[in-house]
Amino acid sequence: MKFDSTEFDLDRRSRSRRHQRRRVAQLVLLAVAADVIVLLVEVAAGLEPLADFQHSPVIYVHAFVVTIGTFGVFGAVLGSREAMLEEMAYRDSLTGLLNSRFFHARLREEIASARRHERPTSLVLLDIDHFKKVNDEHGHPVGNRLLEFIGQAIQSVLREGEIAARVGGEEFALLLPGATAGDAAIAAERFRVAMGQVTVNINNDRTLAVTVSAGVACANPDGVQDGTEIYNLADRALYAAKEQGRNRVVNWMAGKETTARP
Ligand code: GH3
Ligand code: MG
Ligand code: MG
Repeated sequence: MKFDSTEFDLDRRSRSRRHQRRRVAQLVLLAVAADVIVLLVEVAAGLEPLADFQHSPVIYVHAFVVTIGTFGVFGAVLGSREAMLEEMAYRDSLTGLLNSRFFHARLREEIASARRHERPTSLVLLDIDHFKKVNDEHGHPVGNRLLEFIGQAIQSVLREGEIAARVGGEEFALLLPGATAGDAAIAAERFRVAMGQVTVNINNDRTLAVTVSAGVACANPDGVQDGTEIYNLADRALYAAKEQGRNRVVNWMAGKETTARP
């Protein structure tokens, strides 16, 4: 089955409500159909269900309402469970950001759409500097806590229309539809600073912070063909940011890297 990420509503509540509405409607219809089938079977068997109904309408109406109500409630529970499972399939459990699978699908679709409409779209890759050292010196649980807080920091500076994901262990990606390379460099700087402000307490007497490097690429005007190509360009810019000393944003622009912040 082909996954279409544009059908995935990023707003959890509205997606959950949509699932619930659909399941409630389906199950209420099923309940009505079940009642009608029972009536038809009784008629086919030579019984007279409507005569019974005339004798005791309260019982019949009661049974009908209870059946529909029960199916309706079941539909609402089913819908919210479905939304929850979908959420788990597309989000990273540690940071709450979208996961790599979702992100790559959305990136492919966004680049194709940007090419069709001849509008810019940018990608930012952010990688925590020397994260291995955090694990080595303070242990994996501290590393995990830092990743969790960094996920929260990303969410806190995320603007409408921007899509953020955890695409690797300590790597994050931002898809910025409509953003030029210049817009994306400014956005990347906003995220780099926010992530650099995250701290984790160690032994109640020390705090730990990290720095972040970022690579930026823009699909237009660089004539990027697809998601893989823009990802490779952003990755190349990220590599240059690491090479130039880390804790900075590097822009890939028309064949050369440009450091946005030394
Ligand atoms: P650089 O500045 O070049 O990016 O160095 P780095 O140490 O950040 O990069 P490297 O790729 O050498 O190491 C990444 C580390 O991230 C290694 C791995 O132990 C750690 N890591 C990956 N996923 C997780 C995770 O889910 N939790 C924790 N605690 N650590 C993780
Ligand atoms: Mg790293
Ligand atoms: Mg890395």
